[in-house]
Amino acid sequence: MKYAIIADIHANLEAFQVVLEDIRAQKANHIVCLGDVVGYNANPKECLQIIREMNIPCIKGNHDEYCSSNDHLDGFNPAAADAVHWTRDQLDADEKQWLADLKYTRMADNFTMVHATLDAPQRWQYVFDKLAAAANFPYQTTQLCFFGHTHVPVAFMRDTVVRGGTYSKFKIDPSKKYFINVGAVGQPRDNNPKCGYVIYDMTAGTIELRRLDYDIETAQRKIREAGLPERLAERLAYGR
Ligand code: ZN
Repeated sequence: MKYAIIADIHANLEAFQVVLEDIRAQKANHIVCLGDVVGYNANPKECLQIIREMNIPCIKGNHDEYCSSNDHLDGFNPAAADAVHWTRDQLDADEKQWLADLKYTRMADNFTMVHATLDAPQRWQYVFDKLAAAANFPYQTTQLCFFGHTHVPVAFMRDTVVRGGTYSKFKIDPSKKYFINVGAVGQPRDNNPKCGYVIYDMTAGTIELRRLDYDIETAQRKIREAGLPERLAERLAYGR
């Protein structure tokens, strides 16, 4: 059994389509999504439609929450806030309701899904280092938990201490717990512009990070044509 675990699609249809093709080529028979289907890029309706039509189990990200509500955007950077306002104008009531109804955490098979952290999923805290990951582990009841939100693919592992780092492919040690960031489909931020997601092969007991080229120019053109902030187009080329 092979799972494809995707996160932070952020309305980037070009990246999402390339990821879906690769998932088919990898023969992954299940897909789950760790939230932030919308926000930043120019195709929120199309990406949402694919998730819904394919019945992909999904949890809520902060952009899903803000784009489906009228909450004030305190603490958002101006480009992100502009994108939230733009996305709110695109989505209809049914699409907003679907996003608003998403849960913060969810189990799939033998693993847990969360957008940010398990200790306080609705506070949208960022896990970049071992200290932040250590706060998550006491709340993790499954051996594996996958998360997104930072758009930076790193894996944390706990036995007696917490370790962490970047990865491409590794075998799961049954005596350890893992908290794994699967990278971002729609807006990578690890200085690598390729879109990313994870294949979890349950039979082989392996985690593999996939990175793929996609049509960045088209995604950028759509951002500019939509009147979204130029910075959101530029950052796709640099992966940050
Ligand atoms: Zn995100």
